Amino acid sequence: MTTTPPEAPTQRSFVLIKPDAVRRGLVGAVLARFEGKGLRIVTMELRQVTGEESDQHYAEHVDRPFYPPLRAFITSGPSVALVLEGDEAIEVVRALNGATDGRKAAPGTIRGDFSLSNRENLVHGSDSPESAAREIAFWFPGLG
Ligand code: UDP
Repeated sequence: MTTTPPEAPTQRSFVLIKPDAVRRGLVGAVLARFEGKGLRIVTMELRQVTGEESDQHYAEHVDRPFYPPLRAFITSGPSVALVLEGDEAIEVVRALNGATDGRKAAPGTIRGDFSLSNRENLVHGSDSPESAAREIAFWFPGLG
């Protein structure tokens, strides 16, 4: 059997499975979507996100009106932080996650199937190669 070269350069994306997913026992269901698609887990850890980590991770949102309740939510219990790898991983993860607002996210997406909220929407995925590089370096500084 011969193998073909990948169609696009392999990418890495930072994913945070948020406290609502951990609380609701949906970590396995969320991971199954990513693994089923063919993305590989590079590293993964249960993390209690601190307020300071939230401020850095969501630096672009800290001045938005929705940030204080988002900060309270994201620090409200353990999350699962991980790095996924695969062809076009950044776009693929965001497609699997679905639209930000779970009420509007398409059925078949993680948010569309499991969330009814614009805040408690189960997952974060990096939105660009620049964000992915920044987020991976921030959450997993030891990763080469
Ligand atoms: N969020 C919120 N209220 C809003 C918009 C966003 O609480 O009106 C939260 C939500 O958890 C979202 C996160 O802030 O996932 C980051 O927002 P962004 O617009 O970057 O959405 P994402 O990239 O996560 O889809």
